[in-house]
Amino acid sequence: MGEREHVRVAVIGSGFGGLGAAVRLRREGITDFVVLERAGSVGGTWRDNSYPGCACDVPSHLYSFSFAPNPDWPRTFSGQPAIRAYLEHVADTFGLRPHLRLNSEVRMMRWDADRLRWEIETSAGELTADVVVSATGPLSDPKMPEIPGLADFPGKVFHSARWDHDYDLRGKRVAMIGTGASAIQIVPAIAPDVERLTLFQRTPPWVMPRTDRAISGAERWLHRQLPFTRAARRGLLWGIRELQVSAFTKRPHQLGLVEALAKANMARSIKDPELLAKLTPSYRIGCKRILLSSEYYPALARPHVDLVASGLQEIRGNTLVAADGTRTEADAIIFGTGFHVTDMPIADRVVGAEGRTLADHWKDGMQSLRGATAAGFPNWMTIIGPNTGLGNSSMILMIESQLNYMADYLRQLDVLGGQVALAARPSAVNRWNRQVQTRMERTVWNTGGCTSWYLDAQGRNTTVWPGTTGEFRKETRSVDLSEYEVIRLREDHPERIPAGAGNAEGAA
Ligand SMILES: Cc1cc2nc3c(=O)[nH]c(=O)nc-3n(C[C@H](O)[C@H](O)[C@H](O)COP(=O)(O)OP(=O)(O)OC[C@H]3O[C@@H](n4cnc5c(N)ncnc54)[C@H](O)[C@@H]3O)c2cc1C
Repeated sequence: MGEREHVRVAVIGSGFGGLGAAVRLRREGITDFVVLERAGSVGGTWRDNSYPGCACDVPSHLYSFSFAPNPDWPRTFSGQPAIRAYLEHVADTFGLRPHLRLNSEVRMMRWDADRLRWEIETSAGELTADVVVSATGPLSDPKMPEIPGLADFPGKVFHSARWDHDYDLRGKRVAMIGTGASAIQIVPAIAPDVERLTLFQRTPPWVMPRTDRAISGAERWLHRQLPFTRAARRGLLWGIRELQVSAFTKRPHQLGLVEALAKANMARSIKDPELLAKLTPSYRIGCKRILLSSEYYPALARPHVDLVASGLQEIRGNTLVAADGTRTEADAIIFGTGFHVTDMPIADRVVGAEGRTLADHWKDGMQSLRGATAAGFPNWMTIIGPNTGLGNSSMILMIESQLNYMADYLRQLDVLGGQVALAARPSAVNRWNRQVQTRMERTVWNTGGCTSWYLDAQGRNTTVWPGTTGEFRKETRSVDLSEYEVIRLREDHPERIPAGAGNAEGAA
């Protein structure tokens, strides 16, 4: 990377979001862009999470780009190697390699208000960009709890998203901390190998069976020869999930039936009443992400697998002490404790127009306009920003909606001409968030009686979208200029011009 290279767009991250943005930019005829990635290869989530059993929990034919269909998905819920290979394939097929700047961690970004551009400092040098598209991922930076005694634990310790493949778990006493989406895939995958497996559970998840199976050669052939069959399959998968949304967002009581099915599923594998009681959640299904696994409960029923229904509180040598006093000896601890979601690390590294970091701007909770832009941060947008997460469907649908918004944003800048920036109006951001939070009040995530990673430190749900993916698609189809202020570079100073001047909204 040359010193102070200037590009029109700097994309950060090369997961589904960053690669999707890159494809879309090329399709819009924009080639003056780079993709800054801190790792040595593309793939994001699907590069970093290589733990045994890692797979998607939304069917592959929906959990993939609409513009890059893959007739050859090996399984209905494909594993991490297949998804990672798919993303590498996308990078090749769409000519993204020349744009990639691997091993380039973005350390700091500052808005240069005099030149209307972002100054970006990376581990591989500096550059400037007119627009930054931040696709650093909501589940990208592993979260490790602070446990007294952890630093002195004499055995092996790692996070599920940083699996140590050189460490042989065979014959070891392993402690798995956490019962989230990763843990329930890891437990059945490693249980056959380890000497003893102890799972520390603070709150039991609701788990439904996963109908995973190999996709037959005949199906793949059909999908290759008759692409409409693939499109129909995707459409069906999408439609079923859209129909489920109202139960999550408006009528959580309807989820009672799903709860009954989940309990029946549990009872099929777990015969010990004490274990059954520990595994039965006391909150409404859907309040935390519903997990899918047909192997989790059978694994927990194995004689050498123990469940401690209490959080890990302290470590003394090889002894793990739970909050309820239970003691467990372990040779290895695997943390399945999730990610920094509501406190995105990238927010500490962005300094906006008022000289404040995004983290400071968001200190009372993340807020954006249409999940993309933030007041005080001109020409900066996020892919999978605040309130764009989903409880039951494919994040790729949301990413593609945000790419529509990004494409229109860049078109609007072109139409405005010259050196120009768009800054989200605080009034528009507030209005959007009021609407989102009002809709959130009735959702199962807010009313279901649980605490989850969807909620921030203040208890606000700043992560999930309280509607269908179709609604979000409509809301992000195009940029409403009245929600933005246009900043133009004049000879000696930037000048702020109300966008949509002449319309009451724009002049607000
Ligand atoms: C184990 C697991 C399973 C999942 N399964 C599903 C599923 O089945 N269905 C679903 O819809 N969603 C699933 N998700 C959610 C998943 O995160 C999203 O679907 C999607 O992959 C996110 O893509 P992304 O590009 O936004 O982020 P990521 O894939 O996380 O990519 C972010 C990229 O940004 C890079 N980066 C971060 N900070 C910097 C920096 N400062 N400088 C440079 N580069 C940086 C990272 O290295 C990474 O490559 C899963 C998540 C996990 C962890």
